[in-house]
Amino acid sequence: MIDLRSDTVTRPTAAMREAMARAEVGDDVFGDDPTVNRLEAIAAERFGAEAGLFFPSGTQSNLAALMAHCARGEEVILGQDAHTYRYEGGGAAVLGSIQPQPLANRADGTLDLDMVAAAIKPDDSHFAVTRLLALENTIGGKVIGRDYLASAVTFAWKKGLSTHLDGARIFNAAVKLGMPVNLLCAGFDSVSVCLSKGLGAPAGTVLVGHKALLDKARRIRKMLGGGMRQAGILAAAGLHALERHVDRLAEDHDNAAKLAEGLASAGYEVEPVQTNMVFARVPAERCAVLKEHLAAAGVTAIVTPRTRLVTHLDVDADGIAKAVAAFASFRS
Ligand SMILES: *Cc1c(COP(=O)(O)O)cnc(C)c1O
Repeated sequence: MIDLRSDTVTRPTAAMREAMARAEVGDDVFGDDPTVNRLEAIAAERFGAEAGLFFPSGTQSNLAALMAHCARGEEVILGQDAHTYRYEGGGAAVLGSIQPQPLANRADGTLDLDMVAAAIKPDDSHFAVTRLLALENTIGGKVIGRDYLASAVTFAWKKGLSTHLDGARIFNAAVKLGMPVNLLCAGFDSVSVCLSKGLGAPAGTVLVGHKALLDKARRIRKMLGGGMRQAGILAAAGLHALERHVDRLAEDHDNAAKLAEGLASAGYEVEPVQTNMVFARVPAERCAVLKEHLAAAGVTAIVTPRTRLVTHLDVDADGIAKAVAAFASFRS
């Protein structure tokens, strides 16, 4: 099957499984797992950060980061489309008692900093204390460039806000821009980096940032049930991914561009593609039948009026050609 539902569907490669099988392990809650420690150190170094902390999921990493930045009753400003606001079960509010202040994302995925300024609450007992600005890159497959990120972190610094970047797909952005992640993310207090998306690990996210912040996040991770024991088995997959699967993200971007081109030629309305996500229009009443048609042709997709198709490690150029043919034969 050609599975275009998400870049989370990748299976560990044979080489990755071998690295996992060979991993030296210890009890990470005691800080004893050498492979986890190595992953955290290497991730921190890549990002020019003081420290790293390994999490089972990106949702938990974002939540622990937000809780480390914000105390109960404090506020985070973020985008309406941000994963941390929209797709994490409201965890920051439910478990962190953090008030979200969502703002509309602009078409390019950024937040208008004048709107952010206007949303910062005055120091007055009526209001929550605005503490944090959280951004996301890539967001909906769109790359946010360094100029904007630099202006956002400078803005936040001037306003006394901390900054968090949900960089679940930050390597897609970095590869697309041809810029190392330490430059792209410079100035952020914390960055959450998924290893289980396009990088192809079976699970795991690293949070990188200041040592003092990550010390707090470590305590929160334990409270959230994210303290894992011989987690080196998973960290080994993450290390392998960081070493072998970053540069190849360019192939996913090429495949997404080919997929978009093929769909457009077949008559679909397709949004411009930046990284590994393609968005195509499908009439609402045709979604269910198209999904069936694709499945019969060996293509798994979530088909909605704005269908999102995601390329990844387990889909090659042949797979893309097959997917294009399946979409095209539905139309004709
Ligand atoms: C996938 C994702 C997450 C959360 O990752 P999980 O490991 O699925 O919990 C966070 N942010 C963004 C932008 C993501 O795409």
